[in-house]
Amino acid sequence: MESSKLRRRGAGTLTREDLGQTVKLQAWVHRRRDLGGLMFLNLRDRSGIAQVVVHPEEASGAAETLAAVRGEWVVEIIGTVVERSAENINPDMATGTIEVAVTEAQVLSSCEPLPFDVMGRVDASEEHRLRYRYLELRRQELQNNFLLRDKATLTILNHLHEQGFVHLETPILTRSTPEGARDYLVPSRVHPGSFYALPQSPQIFKQLLMVSGFERYVQIARCFRDEDLRADRQPEFSQVDLELSFTDPDEVMELVEGLLTEVFALAQIDLPKPVQRLIYRDAMDRYGSDRPDLRFDLEIVDLSETLGGSGFRAFQNTVAGGGVVRGFAIPGSAGAAAASRKQVDTWADLARKRGAAGALVLRHRDGELQFQVKGALSQGELEAAAAALGLEEGGLALLVAADRDVACTALGALREAVAKQYDLIPEGAHAFAWVTEFPLVEWDSGSERWTSLHHPFTCPDPRDLHLMDEDPKAVRSLAYDVVYNGMELGGGSIRIHSSDLQQRVFSLLGIEPEEAERRFGFLLEALRYGAPPHGGLALGLDRLIMVLCGAESIRDVIAFPKTTAASCLMTEAPAPVEESLLEDVGISVVAKDEVQEEA
Ligand code: ASP
Repeated sequence: MESSKLRRRGAGTLTREDLGQTVKLQAWVHRRRDLGGLMFLNLRDRSGIAQVVVHPEEASGAAETLAAVRGEWVVEIIGTVVERSAENINPDMATGTIEVAVTEAQVLSSCEPLPFDVMGRVDASEEHRLRYRYLELRRQELQNNFLLRDKATLTILNHLHEQGFVHLETPILTRSTPEGARDYLVPSRVHPGSFYALPQSPQIFKQLLMVSGFERYVQIARCFRDEDLRADRQPEFSQVDLELSFTDPDEVMELVEGLLTEVFALAQIDLPKPVQRLIYRDAMDRYGSDRPDLRFDLEIVDLSETLGGSGFRAFQNTVAGGGVVRGFAIPGSAGAAAASRKQVDTWADLARKRGAAGALVLRHRDGELQFQVKGALSQGELEAAAAALGLEEGGLALLVAADRDVACTALGALREAVAKQYDLIPEGAHAFAWVTEFPLVEWDSGSERWTSLHHPFTCPDPRDLHLMDEDPKAVRSLAYDVVYNGMELGGGSIRIHSSDLQQRVFSLLGIEPEEAERRFGFLLEALRYGAPPHGGLALGLDRLIMVLCGAESIRDVIAFPKTTAASCLMTEAPAPVEESLLEDVGISVVAKDEVQEEA
C-alpha cells in the first residue's frame, strides 16, 4: 500500500499479528535513547506505547528528521513491525516483544522545554501542575482514571436506561434550590438587578418532571455549591441524579444496589447482597456517625447505668443531668494499653473539639484495670465497665461523658482516629451500608430555627406526622443515604407530593407562607395538579469514580479541577471583568474594606 494512504494505528494496539506489516504511527515521543548510531523512540498515544527503532543506514532521511526530536514532540513514523532482538525484549510492556523499524518520519509538532517533568517523577508542586493541567493529563495514571470514568458513566446510564429511566437535562440558569449551601449567582443583563442562581442540584426540576409524567428520570447533573472548600470538595461537581414516581424507599434502595453492583464490578469490588441497613439512631449510638465506617468494629457501648451511679462526680452529674457515659474498647492485640500520656491528651483534645469535656482512658494492663482518674471508680465498677466494653488484657477503652449527641460525635471521631492509628482497617475491605430514618430537621442554634437534615422537600415519615408541632426533633424522614467505607456516596428520599404538607414543612423551617409563595410558589402550585408520589436519590459521581480508581484526591478524577480556594490556576478564574460588562448588568463593585467602612 502507498504509505500516504496508510491508516494511523494506535501505538498500543500493535501485536505480534502485525509482524511484517507496514504501519503508520502518529504519537508523542515518550522517551528517546541513542545507542551508537541506533536510535530508539518510545512513541505514546492513548492506546499505549510502542518502541520504534531507526537504523540510520536504512532510513537516513528519517534518522535526520528524528535527530531533532525530544520528549513530547509529536511525530509520524512509517515502518515495518519486526521482532525485537532478544536483549531488547521488555516483558513489562504490552508491545514488549516487537518494535517498528522506521522507514519514513516527519515531525507533526514540536514541544518547547516543558515546565515540569510531565512523564517522570511528580516533584512539581500541585499549583504548578494545575497551571499546566493539560500536560499533567498526559500522564498514564490520570488518563486511566478518565477512561474508567467514561466507562462507569456509560455503565450507569445504560443500566438505568434499561430500567426505564429517561435522560433529561435541567437548566443551569435557574433559581436557587436550597441544599444547604450558598448559591453561585449570575447577574441578568436583561433584568438588571436580578440574578440567576446556578443549581445546587436539579432537585425541584426533577420533581416537576415527575409531575409531568416522565415517571423515571436520570441526569449526570453538574451542581454548584459555594461552600468553604475542604480538600475533597469542589465548587462544581457531578452527580448521578435520579427520580422516580410511584415508589418507596425499598424500591429506590434496591434499584441503587443493582446499579452499584454493576459499577463496583468495574473495579472488581463485590457489593454484598443485601446491603446492610442501619437506622440513623443506631448508627449514631453504635458508631457515632451517620456515615459510619463499618470496616472495623470499635462499637460504642453505653455505660450510663453501670457508671452513672458511681462516686465519680463527672459521671454522676452528667447522667443525673440527662447525659450519658459511653465508650469503646480497642482490642488487646493493638497494644493500646501502653498508650503514652501524650497520646491520651491528643484523644482528649479531639473529644473537646467535638464539644465534650474530654475523654478518659481505662487500661487493662498486667491483669489490672487502671482508670485514668485514680480511685474514682470502685473495683466492682471497673470490672462491670470492662465487661460491658469487652475490654481485653493489653487493651484500652476511651470513655466520654456528655449529652448524648455530643458523646456520639466525640466517640465517632475517636473511633475513626483510633482505627487509623492502630491500623485496624483491614486492607482491601469494602463496607457498604444504607442509613435510614434520619431526623427530618435539626436545631440550628446559630439561626435559632429548625433546618432540614437533607432538604425541605424530604417527606416526613407518616408515622411521625403527629409530632410535627409538639416535637419536631423526633420526626423521622423518609430519607436514605448510601455509605461506603465511612464516606457518603449518595443520598435521597421520598418527597412531599402534597402542597399542604409542603407548606407545613416550610413553616416548620421558618419559611413563612409569603416567602414560600415567592420562592417556591411554582412548586406548591405544581403539587396541586395531580402530583404522583415520588422519590429519588443522587450519587456523587466524582467521589464514586475516585473510589473506583483508588485515587487519593477528587482532583485526580476531574479533568480541570479547582483549588481549595475555588480558583482555576490555568484560566485564572475567577477574574475581574471589564467595566462595560459590569455596566451592562448594572453592577458596580465595591471593595470589601469600603463596605466595612460604611457599616
Ligand atoms: N438533591 C439531593 C442532593 O443533591 C439528592 C436527592 O435528594 O435526590 O443532595
